[in-house]
Parts: sequence; structure tokens; C-alpha cells
Amino acid sequence: MEIPQAVEKIIDTLEAGGFEAYAVGGCVRDTLLGREPEDWDITTSARPEQVKKLFRRTVDTGIQHGTVTVLENHRGYEVTTYRIDGEYEDGRHPKNVEFTASLTEDLKRRDFTINAMAYSKKTGIVDEFGGMEDLKRGVIRCVGKAQERFTEDALRILRAIRFSAQLGFEIEEQTLEAVRQIAPNLVHVSKERIQVELTKLLKSPHPERMSLVFAAGIAPFVSAHFADAGDPGREHAANWLSAEFAPEKYVRWAAFLRDLDEKEGERILKELKADNDTISRVRLLAAYWKCPLEADKYQLRCAMSRMSGEMFDCLLGFRLAAGTDSRKKWEELSAMTEEIRRDGDCISLKTLAVTGNDLIAAGMKPGREIGLRLGEMFEEVLRHPEHNTKEYLLRF
Ligand code: ATP
Ligand code: MG
Repeated sequence: MEIPQAVEKIIDTLEAGGFEAYAVGGCVRDTLLGREPEDWDITTSARPEQVKKLFRRTVDTGIQHGTVTVLENHRGYEVTTYRIDGEYEDGRHPKNVEFTASLTEDLKRRDFTINAMAYSKKTGIVDEFGGMEDLKRGVIRCVGKAQERFTEDALRILRAIRFSAQLGFEIEEQTLEAVRQIAPNLVHVSKERIQVELTKLLKSPHPERMSLVFAAGIAPFVSAHFADAGDPGREHAANWLSAEFAPEKYVRWAAFLRDLDEKEGERILKELKADNDTISRVRLLAAYWKCPLEADKYQLRCAMSRMSGEMFDCLLGFRLAAGTDSRKKWEELSAMTEEIRRDGDCISLKTLAVTGNDLIAAGMKPGREIGLRLGEMFEEVLRHPEHNTKEYLLRF
């Protein structure tokens, strides 16, 4: 297995200090799958204060949980002491954590077999729960008894579905059964954390797995109105929610919520504490994704004048993925959009050849009237871009 030099160096340093150390969790899983890991985590028998002594640059990220970030080549690597999670008190957080000298104990607390493997050059892959086998077979399975693991921490329920969507894996039978049983505990999980998991699910190569959230009876516990969105697998055509949609967060959320009216969709996003930028982009897509749009330059300029160029391109792609426009139509619309841009047609008040000051200089009184006149001129120019000159518009 290939691991980055910086990670190897950190592990070497810990070993030279007399401790055990391994790359662990998601990074091992992703490397074995040939995916690029987002971050590299290291697990070690060294206590946080011992880790800090061995490295020049460290940050106390979560000392009470045993985590120190080691900076190496301007990147941070989380180094966490082997630990056992104490009793869980609220269906989400362990009351306390306990350090341990045993790698096996540390691996045991991890959620799924594929996330519970460790690796070092010295020892090779440590796989005590059949993670390798599950990776090969494409299975998400809890470490230990699924019911207990989900009862400890209900976020794992959504993580199971999210990993199944990201990796295209099936959820093993008993794990899936426990997902169904423990789903009501999701009310203990913060909305932000739920949203992060659902966003990862939607952005994955299998956004259609959102239907599992409904099929497994989780939807009513996600947020007050989440279930209104409807099961994308049952209530819609087979590819209603697919990877055809661009993988941006707001595109996938808009795709998922597109059957609701704008207000309802926005309410769900607010319940899940989505950020304002996402909400406003989803609102825009919701407003325009199925409105009539012909391959007509005036219509296109009007639509383009209502949003950024980026969002307009996004809208065209969205309509194609949603089946609003055929591919042929999308090609026509895209080509026309390109022409409008190439010709520099005025699609914004900012590039109108006449400004409020021009009208005042021409003798108009400052006030509401000016805005109305400018609006009329803009409308004229959207129809006839060649009329966007000062001479023409002032006469107009
Ligand atoms: P990704 O980074 O792609 O979201 P990951 O598997 O790396 O996936 P992280 O949240 O970064 O997930 O966590 C790193 C590791 O910590 C996991 O692989 C798993 O071993 C463990 N872990 C994370 N969250 C939990 C949890 N809620 N319960 C048990 N173990 C967890
Ligand atoms: Mg990770």
C-alpha cells in the first residue's frame, strides 16, 4: 500500500520514540479502493503530551479526545491516541474517553469494518473485523452488534447510507435491520451533522440512494418536514435523482427537492441549517427549472439578466438532467447563450449605455421616474441589443 511521505515520516518518528503508530480509518479504506483519501489520520499508542514532544509543530485539536494535529509540509495530520469510547449518554457523544495501549480496542470503537483497518509499513494491514473481505464484496457492516453501535451513536445510521452511496456498496442485512430499528434515535443528532451526511450522500455517485432514507423509515426523524420531500425511488421515475445532475451541493439538493414548491423546499433546508448561499441557489433553480424557455434570444437574455452567468449555465445543465429540455434543445440553448455572450449583448443594467446620471443631465428630475425609464430602456435593449447606444436610448 502506498502512503504519503509525510505520513510515513510521522509514523517513523513515533515508532523511533518507542510507540506504535498506524494510518487508520477512511484513508486506509480509500487507498485500498484506489480512491484519493481526503485526509490521513494516524492512530498511536503515544499519549498526546508524548506526541507533542516528538514533533516541532503541533496544534492541540482535541487533547481531551487524544487528538493532536502534526504539521508536516504545511499540511495537518491528526494523530490520535488509541482510545476506548466511554458510555454514550445522549445517543451521540461518549461521556468520556479512555486511552488504551491496545490497537484492537481502538479499532473496535470504529463504526464499520471497512473503516476499522490500520496500516503501517512495518506491520502491513491490520484487519481484525473482516474489513478487507467487506471491501471486496462491497458491503457496509458494523463492527460488533449493529443495534448497539447505532444506539451508541445514531449519526452512524446516516453514515452507513452515505458510505453506501459514495462507494456503491450494499448495507449488510443485520446492519440494515438495525438502521430501521434505531432510526428514531436520529432526533438526538444535531441538524448540522445530519445535513453534512445528507449532503455527502447527495453529492455522491449514487444520489438515488437517498431513497434508502425513506425506505428504511428514517425520513420522519431527519427534520420536521423532511419526509414531505418524498421518496425519490418510489414516487418518481427510475432516474429521477441521478448522477446526471452536476455534483455541486446546491444542484443536488435542488434536484432532490424539485417537486416541492419553493417555500417547502426552503423550509427543509432551513430546518437542516443549510447555509444561505445554498438556499438562495436552490431557490433560483427551483424557480426556473421547469419554466418555459425557448431557443429565442430575447427569452434567453431575459432569463440571463436574472442571474449570474455561472448560475445560468448551471440552470441549463439542471434542466437537461431533469429532462425539462432534450439534449438537442440544450445544445441549441447553449449555442445561443454563447452567441449572446460573444456579441456582448446587454443583459445587465450595469452595461446599459445610459445611466441615471445621463437622464439627469438630459433634464430629468432625480426620483422614481428615472428608475422606470431605465427599466423601459433595458427592456428595449433585451429585445434589440443593437439599440444599446446613448444616442438611440436618449431619443427612445
Ligand atoms: P470521510 O472523511 O470520507 O468522511 P472517513 O471514514 O474518513 O470518511 P471521518 O469522519 O473522517 O470518516 O472519520 C475517520 C474515521 O474515524 C472513520 O473511518 C472511522 O474509523 C472513525 N469514525 C468517524 N466517525 C465515527 C463514528 N461516528 N463512530 C465510530 N467511528 C467513527
Ligand atoms: Mg476522513
